[in-house]
Amino acid sequence: MNILIINAGSSSLKYQLMDPDTGVVSAKGLCERIGIDGRLNHKVGDNKIVKDIPMPTHSEAIAATLAILVDEVDGVIKSTDEIDAVGHRVLHGGMEFFDSCIINDDVITAIKKCIPLGPLHNPANLMGIEACQKVMPTTPQVAVFDTAFHMTMPPKAYRYAIPTEYYKNDSIRRYGFHGTSHKYVARRTAELVGKKEFKMVNCHLGNGSSMSAVKDGKCQDTTMGLTPLAGVPMGTRSGDIDAAVVQFLCNKYGYSVDECLNILNKKSGVLALSENLSSDFRDLENGASEGNESAALAREKFCYEVAKYVGAYTAAMNGIDVLTFTAGVGENDGGVRAGVCEYLGYLGVKIDPELNKKRGTELKISTPDSKVEVWVVPTNEELMIAQDTAELVKAAK
Ligand code: AMP
Repeated sequence: MNILIINAGSSSLKYQLMDPDTGVVSAKGLCERIGIDGRLNHKVGDNKIVKDIPMPTHSEAIAATLAILVDEVDGVIKSTDEIDAVGHRVLHGGMEFFDSCIINDDVITAIKKCIPLGPLHNPANLMGIEACQKVMPTTPQVAVFDTAFHMTMPPKAYRYAIPTEYYKNDSIRRYGFHGTSHKYVARRTAELVGKKEFKMVNCHLGNGSSMSAVKDGKCQDTTMGLTPLAGVPMGTRSGDIDAAVVQFLCNKYGYSVDECLNILNKKSGVLALSENLSSDFRDLENGASEGNESAALAREKFCYEVAKYVGAYTAAMNGIDVLTFTAGVGENDGGVRAGVCEYLGYLGVKIDPELNKKRGTELKISTPDSKVEVWVVPTNEELMIAQDTAELVKAAK
């Protein structure tokens, strides 16, 4: 089976052609500068092709993608009929979507309804969907939502303690993000530990970071909120903050709320804590090892906040069996993993320092006598999208 995975942004579109059974990617690429001029970056194995192709809209980008996939020289399939289905990444499913689903007119209407909740991403995601429908009208399309995995949270986790009318009238609540990654890691971890019923905390630590409390495969709580700004500090996002800080900054410096939110989203996090040294954890590690105290503080604060949420979620689930680390930092940065686990001795968490040195591989890093299994599980959101898409399309036949 061939699934085309599409992740459409406002001026870019990423694609992968994947076999959902093996996870093998036969080709992948990026259409960029859509609406400006248009450039296609295509990759088959180690072979990279860059072509300037006019892309006034997402339709031309999809057409260029399909053309290169079937190209006699650079392509990997003979005809677009070999694409069994398309899986679209969609940011916000609001309260409309609890799972991935086959796209029809009602689904498009519901994704449009969620635009106020994902004003930057959902319109771009819709452009990707509509472009595919135009260029390949008979191929099934599936929407996979970044929020859906978290929809099993109980009200005590997703409701904010603000007047009910904002929940009822405006759907203001915790949604959570990185759901496709959390879902993949939860499923894969169940395979790795050989159990279905267990309590886990998953730490998706990357440039954007989020954590989830998962019991028996279902999300119980997550750190991001109405938007991805909440939770632990991130590369450039502040994470949790007293909302009155916004009022203070706006009053003192004359910022608009949007300007202030821009500071919290783009100029905060470990970038700010390191006094603008970097948002990249590798630079912070180098800085800290060279004696830069701000870089050391940024890493320390990050580990501290992650460990605090592990504790909170352990309390929320009345226990923890497995702790997992994933995404760029979680998979690669043994220093952060060790820094988080140092706080968790009271839970009986023990990691093996030698195993913890490994990077980017699926691996149990806890010692045999650790009371909690600690795993590194590299995430694969594209595989999750491909598998959800294939399952839905097969079930519909
Ligand atoms: P992501 O958003 O998941 O792509 O993760 C990006 C983050 O992962 C960046 O802050 C990188 O510093 C971090 N990262 C990627 N590779 C490594 C590595 N080898 N060691 C430490 N951090 C890494």
